[in-house]
Amino acid sequence: MIKDKVVIITGASSGIGEATAKEIAAKGAKVVLGARREDKLRQIANDIKAAGGEAVYQALDVTKPEENAAIVAFAKQNFGRVDAIFLNAGIMPVSNVSALKTDEWRQMVDVNINGVLNGVAAVMPDFLAQKSGHILAVSSVAGLKAYPGTAIYGGTKWFVRDFMEVLRMEAAMERTNIRTATLYPAAINTELLDTITDQQAADGMQGVYDAFGISPDRVAKVVSFALDLPEDTTVNEFTVGPANQP
Ligand code: NDP
Repeated sequence: MIKDKVVIITGASSGIGEATAKEIAAKGAKVVLGARREDKLRQIANDIKAAGGEAVYQALDVTKPEENAAIVAFAKQNFGRVDAIFLNAGIMPVSNVSALKTDEWRQMVDVNINGVLNGVAAVMPDFLAQKSGHILAVSSVAGLKAYPGTAIYGGTKWFVRDFMEVLRMEAAMERTNIRTATLYPAAINTELLDTITDQQAADGMQGVYDAFGISPDRVAKVVSFALDLPEDTTVNEFTVGPANQP
C-alpha cells in the first residue's frame, strides 16, 4: 500500500514527475525528488510539505551513475529505506533522421536509456537485500508504435519496454519480490516539447498536443494506483493518454 512508502522520483522538477510527487505524497508516500533544476525541486518539496506531505530533494543528473547512487543514499539517510523508484526523467528532441542532429541522438540515449539503467543499478542492491522493491519506468506510445520523426526517441522508449519486461521476468524467476510497471503515455501537456529544436518537428508535435493533450496529473493517478497495490500483486503495463487521441 502507498502510505509511508519511500519513493524516489527522477525528473521530478516538472510535468509527470512533479504531478506524481504531489499525488502520491498526498496519499502518504514519502517522496524523494531528483532532477537537475534544484530551484524547481525546492518549490515542489515546499508545496508538498505545506499540504502536509513529506518530501526531500537532491540535485540529480540521471546520466551520472554516482548521482543516482547518491540519491538512493540520501533517501535512506532521510527515510531509512527505499521502497520504489519512478524512472521518469526523459527528453524528446525529435527530428527526422535526415536532419542528422547526432548530438541530440546521443543525449536521448544517455538520458532515456542510460538514465534508466543507472537508476536501476542504484536501487537494485537494496531491493535484492530487502527482498522487495518496486521499479516503475516511463516509456511512451512511441515505444509501442513507430512514428516518423521519432526514430531515436522511439528507439530509446522501445528499449525501456524491452528492458522492463525482461527485468520483470528475471525478477519473478529469481524470486526477488521485485515488481515492475511500465507506462506508455500519449499526449500529456508538460515541458517535454521544449526539448525539440527542429522547427518542423516542433510544429507537428504542437498540433497534436494542442488537439489532444491532457494534464500530467492523470498519469500521476495511474502511478499512484500501481504503487498502492498489495505487495503480492503487480500490474505491468499501462498505456495512458487522452480519451479522444486516436
Ligand atoms: P518534462 O519535460 O516536463 O519533464 C522531464 C523531466 O526530466 C524534468 O523534470 C527534467 O528535469 C528531467 N530531466 C531531463 N534530463 C534529465 C537528466 N539528465 N537528469 C535528471 N533529470 C532530467 O516532460 P514529461 O513530464 O512529459 O516527461 C516525463 C517522462 O514522460 C519522459 O520520460 C518522457 O519521455 C515521457 N513521456 C511524456 C509524454 C508526454 O506527452 N508528455 C508522452 C510519452 C512519454 P531537469 O530539467 O530539472 O533535469
